[in-house]
Formats: sequence, structure tokens, C-alpha cells
Amino acid sequence: MAKKKETKIPLKVVIDREKKKVVFAEASSTLVDIVFSFLTLPMGTIVRLLAKHSHQSHVPANIEAFSNLYGSVAKLNSKHFKKERCKDMLLNAWNSAEQECRNLKIKIDDTEPIKYFICEGECFEKNIYRDMPAYITTDSTVKCKTCGELLKEEVDRNAGTSQGDEGVFVTETSSFIISDDLHVIPNNPTSTLKILDSSEIENFAALEEDTLKLGADEFIHLLQLSFSSETPLSDLFFGTKTMNSQVPSMESPIATRGDDSSKKMNIKIYVQKSTNRIFLAHCSEDFIDFLLSLLTIPLGKVIRLLNNNHQSIFCFENVHKSVLELNVDEYLRSQKVKEKLLNPKLSEYYLGSSHIFPLEGNPICNKYLSDLDSDIFKELTDASPKLEGFVRGPTKYMVTDDLFVSPFSSVSCFTHLQSLKVPISDIEEQVISIGMEEALKLLRASLTSTSVLSNGLKLFILKNAKQETSVNLPKYDRTLKKPKVDK
Ligand SMILES: [Zn+2]
Repeated sequence: MAKKKETKIPLKVVIDREKKKVVFAEASSTLVDIVFSFLTLPMGTIVRLLAKHSHQSHVPANIEAFSNLYGSVAKLNSKHFKKERCKDMLLNAWNSAEQECRNLKIKIDDTEPIKYFICEGECFEKNIYRDMPAYITTDSTVKCKTCGELLKEEVDRNAGTSQGDEGVFVTETSSFIISDDLHVIPNNPTSTLKILDSSEIENFAALEEDTLKLGADEFIHLLQLSFSSETPLSDLFFGTKTMNSQVPSMESPIATRGDDSSKKMNIKIYVQKSTNRIFLAHCSEDFIDFLLSLLTIPLGKVIRLLNNNHQSIFCFENVHKSVLELNVDEYLRSQKVKEKLLNPKLSEYYLGSSHIFPLEGNPICNKYLSDLDSDIFKELTDASPKLEGFVRGPTKYMVTDDLFVSPFSSVSCFTHLQSLKVPISDIEEQVISIGMEEALKLLRASLTSTSVLSNGLKLFILKNAKQETSVNLPKYDRTLKKPKVDK
């Protein structure tokens, strides 16, 4: 059978064949739209896409911890979730720029479109005209607040909102230059000269022009390379592999926004005294909700939270900076689009009180374009309650250093201890309070190494050890206690 012809977008590149380097690339607006859309992808979606299309057998080291977290959700029995759909909503996190991303020339995100439901009865249309709240939901188990029936009639939210050929994030007529490390700048002589100047090319005569054709696979490969390499375009073109096994961590100040009043969660950590490594955390569902919520945060928001200062996602930071520097109207379609890329929101449904980060939600949908009269736009009212956390409590969970999450089991705990070969006498129990500062450090560490708890809470372990050693030292959990016989 003939294979369906795949859409490919050309990318003109200027290369130095000897050095195996892409000096710069010239890209159309359709290609830049897709690169910019990377910022809107929730971390869980990135993990899923990379695992599916991985050119290597595993995801890049700096998002392995996210991948472990994702794998833990997949393994977790449905009974542990507050609602049946919570598991699915973590494995297939909603992109709040879903509608824009649908108009991309090549769709790289294969997440099922969000389904919307209205009342089956007549009250929806009536309320539209009566100027009463018209309810819509993404949860078909929610009841209509007007008539009490289930909101279960599916509606297509995209009817009439197609943008045709107008471009998605950038203006259709613009074109761009992309540097090897994904700086996107306007296509003009100044940019070209600047990029040639910074590329330290000695022999201009040796440079050649070529064209890459990018389809969905190549874009996902580029996404993968951008996590693991500082020269993703060169690697994409020349097929070189520069998979960093461990990305160097950069200790830099994090914006904590001075909010000490934010939520705190207490967790128990088990530290190997001789190495100061945390090999296990024992915690309640609030900390698990926090960890799982990381899968729903869009990449652009992660960059924002970490204050644009993280070596291991440095190419994406360049994309983020590029959006910041590009002018609205001339290059970006609108200020709204710019905001969506720089500070992507979460779907409002995800925002319960369990969020420790200052996250903003996007209403699931706000305008309804009436079929009967295209001039009528009506603000719709979301009838679905917000998700107050994902997992059901009270349950105790265990979290390994590399973010495998599971309900606590003494046997699994023992197996884990055995595999790490940590002597019981070398273990110390501590209690750590996780607030905004600790949460940001954990987020940072989860993009740096697989020793997320140890690296993320490093400073707090030391502090605790000094202050609380005498108090906490002898109190082992029963499960970890070495059987001792008196005399
Ligand atoms: Zn109704």
C-alpha cells in the first residue's frame, strides 16, 4: 500500500561541512510556529512524545526524572485517583494553547482534543439569548445548574474559529533566522551579519547551502536534541549524537517571589548519613499532588518559574527569549499570543488549592460563537469544579530519589534499600517542610539529574542535620528498624 504523503516543511541551512556545524538556518513562519509551540507543551506531553519517537532507546537524561514520574502515574492503580479521569488528565495533560496548536501546519502533539459538553436540553440555547449563564464543561459527569440534567452533549468548540492561512503565533509573511542553539531572530542583513560574526567562521568560502525537510518525526527529534545538546540544529542535520548523560547543574538564584506564606508540606526523608543522599521520601498525598502536577506545567512556564536561568534547558530559554524580543504585529500576531508563549497558562481545571507555584489558569473556553447568528459571542460558564489534587487520601506514598512514586509498601521499601546497598546504621530520618523555595529547587533539580530529592533538598538536609540531628536521629520508622534483641 502506498504510504500517505507526509507534510514536510523546508529549512534552509548554511553549513560548515568540515566542522559538522549548521551556522544558521532560514525558516518560514510555519516552521517557527512549530518551534514556538514547544513552549506550550506540558512536561508530561513532552515525555510522552519523546518516549514514543525516541531515536535513542531512552529520553534525554535531563528529563529522565519527569519520565519516571510519568511512568509512575501510568502504573498507579486507578483507585488511588480522586476521579477516574485524573490519571488520564496527567498522562494526556491539556495544552491551554490547544486551539492555536491545532492550526499548526504539522501537529506534533498527539494529545486527544479536549471534549466539551453542554446541556442536552433546551436550556443552553435559551440561556444564551436570555442572558443567563450558559454552562459548559469538560467533565460529562457534571450536572447542568439550570435544569439539573447531566451536561453530556458534546459540542465542537472549534467550529468557526479556524484561522486559515493567517499564521498561528507569528505573522504569516514574516521569515526568520535560527541559530544552532535556537535563537530565533528576524530575517534581515543585520541578523545575518551578527550571526556570521558570532559563529567564528574562518573560511567563508567553505560554507555551503542545503535544505532540511522537517516532518513530525524531525520536529520531535529536534525537541529531543534541544534537551540534550547545545547545537540541536547541527545534530539534526549531521546526525551527530551529543547526548549528555549528566547535565552540569548551575546553582543560581531562583525567584522565590518572597512568598513565605505559601503552602507547606511536611515530608519524611531518609538520608544516607555518609553521603548525604536521600534515598527515599515518605509522604502524604499533598506532596504527591505537587510532584504529579509538574507533568501538567507547560515548558514555557517552567522556564518562567526558574527565572530563565537553567543550563539544561538553555536552548528552550533561547526560544523563550526570542519570543520576548520579537515585536508584536511585525513578527508576532498579537500581544495575547506573545503572552501565551512567554507565560503559558494551565487549563483552569487543573488549578486547585494544591498548587504551590504561582500558576495561572486559562478558562476552558470563554466565548461561544452561536451557530444561528455569527455576531453573537457569549461568555460561557464553566460548570466543572476545579480539581483539588489528583490522588485520593489518606494514603502514604514513597518517592525515590529519581522520582518513582508509589503507594508505600514495606516490601518495596526493603527491595529499594537492598538494591542501593545502604546499611541500616547509615540511615537517618529527617522531616522537611516543603514550601515554595524547596519546590522550586526540586523543579530545578528534576531538569538537572536523576538525583532529584538529594540535589533539590541538598541545602535543607545540611541545615536539618545541624539543627535537628539530636532530635530526629534515633527515630526510625518501624519498617526500617533493624530487629534488635535486648541482651
Ligand atoms: Zn440544562
